[in-house]
Amino acid sequence: MQRRELLKKGSSLALLLGAPQLAQGAGIIAVRVWPAQDYTRVTIESDAPLKASHRTVEDPPRLAVDIDGLKLDAALQQLVGKVRSDDPNIAGVRVGQYTPDVVRLVFDLKRATEPQVFTLTPVAAYKYRLVFDLYPANPPDPMEMLLAQLGQGGAQPPIPAPPPGQPTPPATGVHVAQADEHDPLAELIARQTSKYREPGAPSTAVASADGIGIKPPPRPEPDRTVASAGAPGIRPPARGSAPSSRGGPRRMLLVAIDPGHGGEDPGATGPAGTNEKNVVLPIALYLRDRLNASTAGRYPLRAFLTREADYFVPLNTRVHKARSVGADLFISIHADAFTNPGARGGSVFALSERGASSNAARWLAQKENQADAVGGINIAAASRAPHLQRALLDMSTAAQITDSLKLGHALLREMDKVGHLHKKQVERAGFAVLRAPDIPSVLVETAFISNPEEERKLRTAAYQSRLADALLVGVRNYFAANPPLA
Ligand SMILES: [Zn+2]
Repeated sequence: MQRRELLKKGSSLALLLGAPQLAQGAGIIAVRVWPAQDYTRVTIESDAPLKASHRTVEDPPRLAVDIDGLKLDAALQQLVGKVRSDDPNIAGVRVGQYTPDVVRLVFDLKRATEPQVFTLTPVAAYKYRLVFDLYPANPPDPMEMLLAQLGQGGAQPPIPAPPPGQPTPPATGVHVAQADEHDPLAELIARQTSKYREPGAPSTAVASADGIGIKPPPRPEPDRTVASAGAPGIRPPARGSAPSSRGGPRRMLLVAIDPGHGGEDPGATGPAGTNEKNVVLPIALYLRDRLNASTAGRYPLRAFLTREADYFVPLNTRVHKARSVGADLFISIHADAFTNPGARGGSVFALSERGASSNAARWLAQKENQADAVGGINIAAASRAPHLQRALLDMSTAAQITDSLKLGHALLREMDKVGHLHKKQVERAGFAVLRAPDIPSVLVETAFISNPEEERKLRTAAYQSRLADALLVGVRNYFAANPPLA
């Protein structure tokens, strides 16, 4: 009855206003879907702000979204075909013109979800964005993700194929070095106590199936829940448990690799159209495989990726993930860009709390720190989790920076053998992603993607692989000169 009345109202409104007034409203520019284990993002970009209301519905789990003042068009309809079958969170999406002025989207979900729905004002190349971030109600914590990455009893999170014309990343399977008599992974878990939680995920959701108006599809096969990927028997022990006292090396050395940008944030773009996010990910994957097959002295090396797929990870979350798994080092991988296409060569940066070592370093840090705005951080949710920021800001980074400079120097020496160096010394500036107070952290600008020659090289598997080799040797040399405390 209500709907009929709405429809009647809509048509009488049409008679009153006439066609020209009705034609006004937002036009859809693009729809994008970024699937990942952490969360799946759906973005609707439009030339005017969109107003949406949403509710979640259980059994089967769905998210219904009504967008006001919108006509269903071909651009929006494309959303249906953009959901991938291997999306960890979304099973499918249905789109319909619910009333003459309201478009309704219904996302059929693969698991219980706590959605964040928010809007972004124009920034960088984007106009207005309406964003749905679909976080699993039981988020995988970084330790589970590490276990999955190490291939110990967890499914590999999907890694999307690179876009056409992009180099192929290395195989995603990780070959864990054969079991040492002691179990470094168990050691790692033993020294791990912190629990990761995505900032600001809403804790309540309205659950009512009334008035959706679009029937759910037949129930799919049993839920393929992937939230608990850890193998039985190697779950993190209770808080405060002591490390193993068995013989052999007491620990493994864990390197957090942070491929810059991702998802809505492409990073820098080269003259041939190569996106930074797409070349730094394969370099990170090569480096991960190298590390996982290596040792530093008598310690096994292991890698943890802060992102494994093409999606947006806020800068703070990257730091938080690395701390949550107890990483020994943090290496953020980027590809520089500058207005002068002649600029070339790699460089390495460490944190500076005050000032920068050069104007160029300051400029670069400002540019990299914009990643959250371009990628599209949910400001409201982030501000509901202020403890994340405060915890980091309250701790001194002085010792961290001393070690970071040593690490940066060790990496530069090896990068010098692979290609040109832009700067022979480790530079410093206020990079947000280098703020872990307890982890030596560097940001590696592998080369200038704005330089046509270096852009071409960055796209080749050979160069990506050589860079990863150089970084591996640098890491090993750093640990050799700065052995971990027993
Ligand atoms: Zn970057």
